[in-house]
Amino acid sequence: MAMMTGAQYIESLRKLNTRVYMFGEKIENWVDHPMIRPSINCVAMTYDLAQDPQHEDLMTATSHLTGEKINRFGHIHQSTDDLMKKVKMQRLCGQKTASCFQRCVGMDAFNAEYSTTYEIDKKYGTDYHERFKKFLLYVQENDLVVDGAMTDPKGNRGLAPHAQPDPDMYVRIKEVREDGIVVRGAKVHQTGSINSHWHLVMPTQAMKEADKDYAVSFACPSDAEGLYMIYGRQSCDTRKLEDGADVDLGNKQFGGQEALVVFDDVFIPNEYVFMAGEYDFAGMLVERFSGFHRQSYGGCKVGVGDVVIGAAALAAEYNGVEKASHIKDKLIEMTHLNETLYCCGIACSADGCATECGSYIINMLEANVCKQNVTRFPYEIVRLAEDIAGGLMVTMPGEKDFKSDLVVGKNGETIGDVCNKYFAGNDDVCSTEDRMRVLRFLENICLGSSAVGYRTESMHGAGSPQAQRIMIQRQGNIEGKKALAKEIAGTK
Ligand code: SF4
Ligand code: FE
Repeated sequence: MAMMTGAQYIESLRKLNTRVYMFGEKIENWVDHPMIRPSINCVAMTYDLAQDPQHEDLMTATSHLTGEKINRFGHIHQSTDDLMKKVKMQRLCGQKTASCFQRCVGMDAFNAEYSTTYEIDKKYGTDYHERFKKFLLYVQENDLVVDGAMTDPKGNRGLAPHAQPDPDMYVRIKEVREDGIVVRGAKVHQTGSINSHWHLVMPTQAMKEADKDYAVSFACPSDAEGLYMIYGRQSCDTRKLEDGADVDLGNKQFGGQEALVVFDDVFIPNEYVFMAGEYDFAGMLVERFSGFHRQSYGGCKVGVGDVVIGAAALAAEYNGVEKASHIKDKLIEMTHLNETLYCCGIACSADGCATECGSYIINMLEANVCKQNVTRFPYEIVRLAEDIAGGLMVTMPGEKDFKSDLVVGKNGETIGDVCNKYFAGNDDVCSTEDRMRVLRFLENICLGSSAVGYRTESMHGAGSPQAQRIMIQRQGNIEGKKALAKEIAGTK
């Protein structure tokens, strides 16, 4: 099957019977729901860009399984060049959506599973790698979106999975049958889960023998029997439900998506099981997936950052302050921070290497440094954007006021007239509405629904800062550095 267009992808979602709940109710037509649709448009962009000859080199790749052209989001990296193109593709998608476009979690999970299943098989003589290859082939041929699902609810963080008072706090094998397994538990803050055709589930942390039942990885369709999702709400999300909402949304077309995914005794046939009890490989799978996703942030967040910087520069222009030296300097600082993140994304890719099965993996230390910077720099970029934009981005009246024809002034002025008069900026370069639009966009990305993707996700997505610090400590080779110092300093 050929690669899908964005429109075909959206139609393909309609064929799924995915169970979605929001605000305590079942959402029947979630594809057209005004709060969900922007996140679907965002994923659709990963399809449409792949159809554009201009972006073919970044957005598509040659499948190592079939030799066919596929969407890069379904590709297993075959070189450091592939790894770098992945980051560049993510920057492009971020630039086009200013949101989390969700499809990378699946791509990163494919790449982690591909090499890890190979190594499990080598030790245990299992056939997980072949099973996984078959699943991947199906994904590539049908150009599917897959949610790479890792994070468990975890309950009491001080207790191991098996020691939790409620055994469902980590996804587990509840029953082993001859033809498959029954799984139970949940995955939290699942990016793009509702918009995915399939889920690829992985353990959330390294495990010991007592947690054997929790060392489980498998694939299942999003509408599998027993699987359902509860939509995660976002700041200012109900603005999307307002009649004719446009300017107030800031980003009308695109958005991210997170949900709670529940596995209520879901049966998984053996062909879709890729780890079942090999607890000593849970850590490897987690590290590889996290490493790939920490690399990803050196692309996606940079692309969104490009739009934030652009919006801040526009706001300055619309306010008539673009020539002020401190504004220019703030834009330089934002650019410096954003490009530093990109450098990290490219560096960990360029320094990547082959795994045992031949697929390519990033440099782990550099990928973790990349993500550690992402936990900080977007916050500073947003701080500077808010500084440049001014307080109006959070104090101005709503779109309906700007459009109101209710007479309030002594000379017959309407609310709309008054708002348009007093909120005008440099009217040589912009209308009052354009000024509102750019400020609302910044509000959306700094504090509104897109702040999930640009701010808090920068902190916690792909692992919270401490998770990277542990990896940096492990990979930092302090002993080797001490030896360097000793040698030059001449200590005995
Ligand atoms: Fe992709 Fe970035 Fe969203 Fe992760 S946070 S799914 S890397 S866009
Ligand atoms: Fe993420």
